Amino acid sequence: MDRKDRNDSRKKASGASGKKPDGKAGAVRSSAAVKKKKKKRRSDNPAVRILKVFGTLVLSVFLIVIITGCIFATALTIYILNFADTDISINLDRGVVSSNITKFLYKNPDYDPDDENSEEYLIYYALKNRQKKVMWVDLSEIPQHTQDAFVYTEDERFMAHDGVDFKRTFAAIVKTILGTQEGGSTITQQTIKNITGDDARSGAESVERKIREIFRAFNVEKVYTKDDILQAYLNIIPLGDGSQDIIGIQAAANYYFGKDVTELTIAESASLAAMTKSPANTNPLTNPDRNKERRNKYSLKQMYDNGRISEDEYEAALEEELVVTGDPDFSSRQDIDEEDLDNQGPTSYFMDDAIDQAIDEISERRGIDYEEARAELYGGGYNVYLTVDIQMQEKIEKEMRDPTNFQSYPLAEDELLSGFIAMDYEGNVKATVGGRTEKTDSLGWSNVSDAQRSPGSCIKPIASYAPALEQDLMTYSTLFTDKPITIKDDSGKDKKWPVNYSETGSSENWSYNQYTTWQMLAKSLNTAPAQLIQQMTPAYSYNFLKEKLDISTLKETDIDYSPVTVGGLTTGTKLEELVGAYMIFGNGGKKYEITYISRIEDAEGNIIFEKNDGYKQAISESTAYVMNRMMRQAVNQEQGTARYARLNNTVLAAKTGTSSEWKDLSFVGCTPDYVSGVWIGFDQQETIPTGEYQNIGAIWKNIFGDIAETEETKDFEMPDTVVEARYCTKTGLLAGNNCGSTEVGYYKQTNVPGYCSGRH
Ligand SMILES: [Zn+2]
Repeated sequence: MDRKDRNDSRKKASGASGKKPDGKAGAVRSSAAVKKKKKKRRSDNPAVRILKVFGTLVLSVFLIVIITGCIFATALTIYILNFADTDISINLDRGVVSSNITKFLYKNPDYDPDDENSEEYLIYYALKNRQKKVMWVDLSEIPQHTQDAFVYTEDERFMAHDGVDFKRTFAAIVKTILGTQEGGSTITQQTIKNITGDDARSGAESVERKIREIFRAFNVEKVYTKDDILQAYLNIIPLGDGSQDIIGIQAAANYYFGKDVTELTIAESASLAAMTKSPANTNPLTNPDRNKERRNKYSLKQMYDNGRISEDEYEAALEEELVVTGDPDFSSRQDIDEEDLDNQGPTSYFMDDAIDQAIDEISERRGIDYEEARAELYGGGYNVYLTVDIQMQEKIEKEMRDPTNFQSYPLAEDELLSGFIAMDYEGNVKATVGGRTEKTDSLGWSNVSDAQRSPGSCIKPIASYAPALEQDLMTYSTLFTDKPITIKDDSGKDKKWPVNYSETGSSENWSYNQYTTWQMLAKSLNTAPAQLIQQMTPAYSYNFLKEKLDISTLKETDIDYSPVTVGGLTTGTKLEELVGAYMIFGNGGKKYEITYISRIEDAEGNIIFEKNDGYKQAISESTAYVMNRMMRQAVNQEQGTARYARLNNTVLAAKTGTSSEWKDLSFVGCTPDYVSGVWIGFDQQETIPTGEYQNIGAIWKNIFGDIAETEETKDFEMPDTVVEARYCTKTGLLAGNNCGSTEVGYYKQTNVPGYCSGRH
């Protein structure tokens, strides 16, 4: 019946009965239409008039349906084509599929690009979900009747179709939309689902998944043979009983029957194939009756009906009594990969932070919570490329365990704690060691990335000097008087603040002498930073630390004088972030994010994270360089607090830090290649028994000196925006002809001081 005939017949039908086909609503609408028409012209025959109105109505509804249908079809086509455009490649190779082992890789220092046997990346650590039993076996080792059991239970047209069995898929989509149990996937589709973990079960998302899966299935069938697909399928199919995560046919043969896959009988094979739909409820161990029913009535029957087993074999298999073992420790073969994994020992401090970051990145990019992302990382077969310098990491681990490096403080390594970290000037961490003892546990506490301790005077360059210099509140040689500022104490009374740290321990030790900015910094006097913070306000400094330098541990209570002037923070900083903030003094003022990972690829080879070149310009290039020059004085001057860290050939800009009552000693140093830092202190925040806080510089040098020191003299590059000029030490202004005592200083081109008159 064509369109016209259908319309005619409907008209006839409605005309004959005198009633509208669409019931009450139609009746109301059409009588309104009738009234409207009455105003214009009265028809002689009401029956004909009503008939015409009905006809128009039916035709309109019909056209609306057609047009809506077209729009819907177009939308659906565009929607589906979207999936065709997306990257839907699936890798069925053993390395990707077999074990879901996530590998952490490092750049091979001996890599030779001209030698084809030389590998660019080597495995640093492999992560494996130890709950999961996965044992790869090649298809050629899987008996034919075992392969048949699965094929004829799950997808009898597997050898014939192109990846999708449309009859079953359509039924599955309808069932999914209706919310009933989903099924009907081919072996190809199930393999894809098991590899990608893409298994949204209900609603629009599940339809989307189905469509995506169909395109992927076609793609896989184009690239891989049926044998490749079946091999992958049989190796990754989940066959756990609910208490054990059993993955793949070999692990299942081991667990349920205490056998190697090569020894499986027809009945045993059918038993495993019978449990695929609902392993926890149909497995031969905990649900032998249900398993037997499906095994005999479906799996074996399918094999027999399709001519895969003879009648004798069929009869024998029906009668066979299975011996089910259920031993999770039974292993029919020694898997070398597994053994390697068991021998790799606890994770290093570097690995701990890398694992943590990888979970965060996967969580963020996949839009899943931390726990889900953790499970993904442990079972997802990712490749994680680390920023680690393997030789540096191993050397620092060794130096941190050597007590002679800490001989200024002859305390056992479990008493005096320490942490060390080094990164390059783009935030790529090269080495981190969060303790002095041999690491015995994985994912343990780190004094670098977990501990929050007072940075002491190490806060000064980043909280007061740098933002003040950026605003031109002073220059390299501006003269400050070593005198206190007046602030309110807790009871609201004026008090003179702050005292300077001193090796004699006396209080109110203001000298009222004048010192240049760099001298104030090199001597680590507290008065100049206090004067600068007073001009900028503590809130300004707080925001600078938080927004520009990514210090994440600041609290609201840190918007005050003591926290941002002398580092008396509420909880402190992580050494990792403190050292990270100092990168601006060696790279022209750029703050990059700190990273332990340069790239993460998922099991399919898709890049899901990559360190980019993005940074924040925290301070100008010229401010950064002048700061660098001032911090060098802390190393180079006779009385500089960082003098014990001085290197022979390599320029070092550095700052020491001591928290109140000597509970924490810190050191952060910038060499042309790395920014690095060390911290020492007690677990119970007690006073470190020494008055010589310079020794922290010696500890840094003991640990890192060999790496920091270079054969040739190495220096930071001075930018064009900085001017080198002699200044008068009496006034801090540029030296005039009559100035007797002069020294070299460094100035932002935009803020060079005037010339000294010479009248001192
Ligand atoms: Zn002068």
